[in-house]
Amino acid sequence: MPFYVTTPIYYVNAEPHLGHAYSTIAADVLARHRRQRGEDVFFLTGTDEHGEPVAQAAERQGLTPQQLVDQNAPRFREMGERIGASNDFFIRTTDPEHVARVQEVVQRVHDNGHVYEGTYEGWYCPRCADFKTESELGEGNTCAIHEIRLEREREQNWFFRLSAFEDELKRLYAERPDFVAPSFRRNEALSFIEGGLQDVSLSRAKLSWGVPLPWQREQVVYVWFDALLNYYTALSYAREEEDLTDRFWPASWHVIGKDILKFHCVYWPAFLLAAGLEPPERLYVHGYLLMGEKKMSKSLGNVLDPNEVVERFGSDALRFYCFREVSFGQDGNVSAAGFETRYETELANDWGNLASRTLAMIERYRGGVVPDGEVDPVLGEGEDALAGIDGVVRELLDRAELSQALEAIWARVRRLNRYVEETKPWELAKDAAQSDRLDRVLYNLAEGVRTLALVLHPYIPETSGRLLDALSEGNRELDAFGARAGGAHVERIPPLFPKLEAR
Ligand SMILES: [Zn+2]
Repeated sequence: MPFYVTTPIYYVNAEPHLGHAYSTIAADVLARHRRQRGEDVFFLTGTDEHGEPVAQAAERQGLTPQQLVDQNAPRFREMGERIGASNDFFIRTTDPEHVARVQEVVQRVHDNGHVYEGTYEGWYCPRCADFKTESELGEGNTCAIHEIRLEREREQNWFFRLSAFEDELKRLYAERPDFVAPSFRRNEALSFIEGGLQDVSLSRAKLSWGVPLPWQREQVVYVWFDALLNYYTALSYAREEEDLTDRFWPASWHVIGKDILKFHCVYWPAFLLAAGLEPPERLYVHGYLLMGEKKMSKSLGNVLDPNEVVERFGSDALRFYCFREVSFGQDGNVSAAGFETRYETELANDWGNLASRTLAMIERYRGGVVPDGEVDPVLGEGEDALAGIDGVVRELLDRAELSQALEAIWARVRRLNRYVEETKPWELAKDAAQSDRLDRVLYNLAEGVRTLALVLHPYIPETSGRLLDALSEGNRELDAFGARAGGAHVERIPPLFPKLEAR
């Protein structure tokens, strides 16, 4: 089964921030989960490098645009590495292969009769060297960035006949009710389409830093179409020896932020249809992590800086926090104080402590070997039953419900903690007559922790990997699920998530 997931490509002019990391981690969790299912996975991220803001920033710094993007793109690549992204390729829209492929597709749209020459009229900012849409305008028709009054200007450029795809898009949305998730975002996209579509510029005449239009080389492809096409072009050259397009197109999931919904959920499928290409299978539109509360925290001050979190607490702590604190899909507040609370109560106490206790008790009471046992029926009952958690996670992640799947896992983490309190292995260990009972409890703890580490692996790969190693579990696939017999050697390891005061 092929599975192809993408992040938005990030505009290379900005510094990488938490919002970029958020999209990347989300796509990474989906990619890792599918690899665990033995699927054929391709995970793409990268940078968007054309457009006038880049050309202008370069000029200010006395660089060519190419020099500037060569200098900035590695920051995004490094961000991915820091947060544990397992992408299979990193695309840059200045890659010559991307440029050539964009021209090919745009030419096809032209040849299919979906473009025409027209006059674009709009509010033009000479400092941005770009037209502003009504929504981008500041008060009194000013540029929101430069705060200068703008003039109406006209230019001759090429238009994409978006309006001609209105019915086809409506049909697509009707036939595939889960094309865009969550459903309130689908409704937003659909109401935009139902409001009537206007044709959009496919090229710009006043701009220079971009992909030349193949039939009129003094114009460049409007940066949005250039950028969107990355999802398609990357497959043709990500591997030297193989064109992956037939294997992975159409994309299984585009993970995007809500600010780029219109381009992805309306323009993009229409443009693909115009080129005779299949639209993506599904798009997931996530919300924003808002830096709300500025409450002092013990160790991070009052600002949640993702780099500092990763440096001091590890990438897993950041990955976990993003999907625990805010329900994926919604907007929500994040804060340094909130991070610390989650870290301490959930990662250090609920999970880290459960793992440490389990390893320590098996070492102390059974010489580091998991005893033979059978699954305790109490762990197989009720809403938080350990058995079947892999199925629950599969089903939720099929819909990209990242927070709900993590919550389902966490209910089992809490269940296993209660099991320790209910069975009190340290008391069983004092009574030789309870030896069989102790075997069974330790077996269930070892199996429970191993099982949960497997389903947690896509979210917190680094610490889950260490824990699975300590449990002598070399496999990371969900096929390794289900009861394993006793006999495995376990090893005590330093705390997965050291307590705050120990830092
Ligand atoms: Zn401006």
